[in-house]
Amino acid sequence: MESTLTQQDNFRDHLPNADQQGSRKWIYPRVEKGRLLRWRTAVAWVLLATLFAGPFLSLDGHPVFLFNVLERKFILFGVPFWPQDFHLVALGLLTFIVFIALFTVIYGRVWCGWACPQTIFMEMVFRKIEIWIEGSPNERKKLDAAPWTTDKILKKTAKHTVFFLISFLISNLFLAYIIGKDELFQIVTDDVTEHLGGLASILLFTGVFYLVFAKLREIVCTTICPYGRLQGVLLDKASLVVAYDYIRGEPRGKRVKNLDRQPTAGRPTLNRRAAPSKLITLNSPKGDCVDCALCVQVCPMGIDIRNGSQLECINCTACIDACNNVMDKINRPRGLIRIDSQEGIEQKKPLRFTGRMKAYTAVLVALIGVLLYLLVSRPAMETTVLRAPGQLFQREADGYISNLYTIEIVNKTFQTLPVSFRIKHPNGQLRLVQPITQVPSDALAKGVFFIRLPEKSIHSNSILLEIEILSGNQVVDRAKTTFLGPN
Ligand code: SF4
Ligand code: SF4
Repeated sequence: MESTLTQQDNFRDHLPNADQQGSRKWIYPRVEKGRLLRWRTAVAWVLLATLFAGPFLSLDGHPVFLFNVLERKFILFGVPFWPQDFHLVALGLLTFIVFIALFTVIYGRVWCGWACPQTIFMEMVFRKIEIWIEGSPNERKKLDAAPWTTDKILKKTAKHTVFFLISFLISNLFLAYIIGKDELFQIVTDDVTEHLGGLASILLFTGVFYLVFAKLREIVCTTICPYGRLQGVLLDKASLVVAYDYIRGEPRGKRVKNLDRQPTAGRPTLNRRAAPSKLITLNSPKGDCVDCALCVQVCPMGIDIRNGSQLECINCTACIDACNNVMDKINRPRGLIRIDSQEGIEQKKPLRFTGRMKAYTAVLVALIGVLLYLLVSRPAMETTVLRAPGQLFQREADGYISNLYTIEIVNKTFQTLPVSFRIKHPNGQLRLVQPITQVPSDALAKGVFFIRLPEKSIHSNSILLEIEILSGNQVVDRAKTTFLGPN
């Protein structure tokens, strides 16, 4: 039997979106209705609504999200973060990366197909507009191949104008996340000549988004995005992926009316499952795949999932809907293409919690624990005390030795906080050059102060001192510094 099958394993020798000469082959995916598409559309609209609402949400007059990298101001879920909190941001990012890795090991690339902004904008916004203006995949293919008639010029101009306007909107949205909605409104309503730099950056980002959605498309996932490239090392045989059940599907072939289904003789090998239908005679036993190629036609990445799990697959699940529709029509059970692991397909094994999953989970739980502890115990104020540069100590007329210091206090809340200072030394005195009695909300207060110690109490030329920073009667932070003396 094996010798009669032609091998079709050369799919790894070329990219699905390139022809034999290596030129770009445009993909015209077909849209097939289905339960998963309905879910994916609902999830996409919720995520899009959240993304667009993000910059406009506020809490007590302050934005809920702000990522102002220019002024180093960050607000996450209404909590302001300062550059001093960088360790929390770094830990948060690390947690996020481990979470993505762990999630991928278990659930494959579900992020790519269901939650990634690139896929959502491409499939749920730009692709829909393209279909609306240019029609079905066949109509789009014909239009692209046709000479430049008035109809083609009108359709292409309309499509690219809408693409550019949506890219401009996305660009403004991201700017709102960076500078805040109020600043953005001001830029929009001010004289354009006052913000030429800002306008140039918006247009630059508009150009990038337009290029991504009008031209690059699937290349972003296959070539540019590093997450896609990581799949090879993150996925294993137990990971859940969109998979074709070749045990059930092969040997594939067209159905002939009134031809009785016969059980498949033995399990097909990996090579057998790639057999083209034309070599299967009508008398051969047939699997459930009728070789209609609908799963290939709906794939936005242009791949054939029947060749096995591939780097290009973004787990969008479009092929599952397409194949389920075919199975319904031929009266066979759904799930010939389904979300399953390689082990699940080959050995009918349920999902296993592997050693790697356990290790990732342990690391993730530990990181989240540390992150939560640091967030909860984060002081409302953070103080930095430094000795004034170039100063030693001064001997004063009343028998005291004094040192000069600078102080910076960051108020990490949205309330103005009263502040006072206490030095932890039985004979120490702290004298501010200019009094600081309060720190405004989400602001930095700076000052200069002296610490005085009686010379008699100094027995070393360097004494470690602690200063308590109080808000009301509560100690909100502690700062350590050294005091230089004559001994
Ligand atoms: S859609 Fe299903 S039946 Fe049709 S070719 Fe793909 S796997 Fe086979
Ligand atoms: S193979 Fe299926 S799940 Fe993967 S990208 Fe193509 S249509 Fe989506």
